[in-house]
Amino acid sequence: MAKTILHKKPRAKPGEIKKWLLNNKAHDGDSCLEWPFAKNKAGYGNCKWAGGYKNAHRVMCELIHGKPPTPDHEAAHLCGRGDSGCVNPRHLCWASKSENNHQKTEHGTQLRGSKQPTSKLKRSEVVRIRSLKGVKSYREIGKMFSISPQQVCKIILRQGWGWLD
Ligand SMILES: [Zn+2]
Repeated sequence: MAKTILHKKPRAKPGEIKKWLLNNKAHDGDSCLEWPFAKNKAGYGNCKWAGGYKNAHRVMCELIHGKPPTPDHEAAHLCGRGDSGCVNPRHLCWASKSENNHQKTEHGTQLRGSKQPTSKLKRSEVVRIRSLKGVKSYREIGKMFSISPQQVCKIILRQGWGWLD
């Protein structure tokens, strides 16, 4: 007798995952967007993409922000709800391992803005960037201020500029 494998979620049809990702790339809601397909034990979405299995939030992050700056970069969750399978494109950005850990521990001692590469921005610009969160994509905001989407993400994550608040 064949072993019955129980899947929490129905198995996605071929092409369905890709379609869902592309459809939700422009998702503009503020709340978390839960991965509707299979997840791993840690709660992160599993995704078949480009011939292999990947973390769904990583694929989404790449769709929005392009390739990670280095292979060691992690797709960090602004919302801290990766283990709930969040793949909201607005909640994701590339962060180095230490940045990601820093974000996870949150609101610890932060480096002052002057030591960060984003220090060329004025306070008023930082405030403006944060006000654009959810209004424009990181890429669009980055273009407006001549900074990278990753830097926009960091500012919104309050890394480096946390002392402003
Ligand atoms: Zn989220």
